[in-house]
Amino acid sequence: MAKLGDDTFSIGAPALRLDDLEPLIAARVAPVAGFEPVALRAARGRVLAHAVAALRDLPPFDNSAVDGFALRHADLAAVGETRLAVVDRVTAGHAAARPLAPGAAVRIFTGAPMPAGADTVLMQEDARLDGDVLVVPSGLKPGDNRRCAGEDIAVGGLMLPAGRRITAADIALAAAQGLTALPVRRRVSVALFSTGDEIVEPGTALPSSAIYDANRYLLLALTEALGATVTDLGILGDDADALADALRQATVGHDLVITSGGVSTGEADHVRTAVERVGRLDVWRVAIKPGKPVAMGVLAGEEGARAAFVGLPGNPAAAFVTFVRVVRPLLLRLAGATPQPPRVLPVRAGFAHRKRPGRREYLRGSLRLGADGAPEAVVHRLEGAGAITSLTETDGLIEIGDDVTAVTPGDTVGFVSYAEITG
Ligand code: AMP
Ligand code: MG
Repeated sequence: MAKLGDDTFSIGAPALRLDDLEPLIAARVAPVAGFEPVALRAARGRVLAHAVAALRDLPPFDNSAVDGFALRHADLAAVGETRLAVVDRVTAGHAAARPLAPGAAVRIFTGAPMPAGADTVLMQEDARLDGDVLVVPSGLKPGDNRRCAGEDIAVGGLMLPAGRRITAADIALAAAQGLTALPVRRRVSVALFSTGDEIVEPGTALPSSAIYDANRYLLLALTEALGATVTDLGILGDDADALADALRQATVGHDLVITSGGVSTGEADHVRTAVERVGRLDVWRVAIKPGKPVAMGVLAGEEGARAAFVGLPGNPAAAFVTFVRVVRPLLLRLAGATPQPPRVLPVRAGFAHRKRPGRREYLRGSLRLGADGAPEAVVHRLEGAGAITSLTETDGLIEIGDDVTAVTPGDTVGFVSYAEITG
């Protein structure tokens, strides 16, 4: 499974700054091996295994960009109108019968090949016909409304780079090249479970003092949206032996094991002990709020199986924030993709906030228009990491820099839309 060295996640410093996390992941996590071709209709979201070059010019031939009249620009008068005889008609999918003679024009439709000799197209909206004679107004420039062979992409040009997460438009480009499949890496395989004596499965009775499992469904959806396959291993109690057994089994056949809950250093938190028994845990005390602590390590299973491990905090909003900032780049690296740091939009704060220096903070919030019409960020009424509505009732994360200690209304903060980070 995943190739992970013994020191994959080892780091001496007590709390790793977020800016140092992604380079570390990039340096230490190797993508999964194993390529396969995938049919275009199943390719969206898959990771391209190697660069794909254009096999042919696109468009394959010079053609008209509009419905109109193809002509020779050299025939046009320097000033005033020009009169040209309309001698032929060419529609998309058909070629002109003969080259365009000087002093003539051809009726042409969008996508039809330019007749030999024609270099410019007059849009039909700008044309006037006087019987069979076309009256061309002045002002047409050479090459207007003509699409040249290879202008979209030329044969041999880089069509799609390795590590690309294939989009709908990428699929269109591949199809336009006549391809039916693309080479992709195999999907990353993830094992997922929740931990906690109080956590029960939705659809079953809810005992007093218990809560339904929200995180597993959150993390399942987030993980699958990144193109991984997920094995749902259910809920485990706060019991180090049971956790260790489950981790050992999950290591086989998976590249990454994700848990939520039980990673603090409290008496009832057993994930750390379990991971230390099964592999090695380097508590990456990532300098992030909500989220500290996030546990990362490497698990060793039977027959030399190895898997990366991330233990996320139990509070749902903390699990979400740490997933997008820690698991997401790790998962994309394993998948062979090149993760781009999320685009952080600078916006004006419409709120006041105090924080401790030395860690990045993510508040859940939305953008609205301030009194002067400029956009500003506002925070959800509940700042606590336990509130799931702080995720459902907002549009993104408000990012407050590591060393900021106070935000006052009017300050600039960062805003990361959920759309940027949840797929
Ligand atoms: P822990 O990280 O185990 O200390 O849990 C922190 C908080 O998150 C506690 O209030 C837990 O009940 C809650 N929590 C843990 N796991 C889940 C889960 N799977 N779904 C919803 N809440 C959870
Ligand atoms: Mg717990």
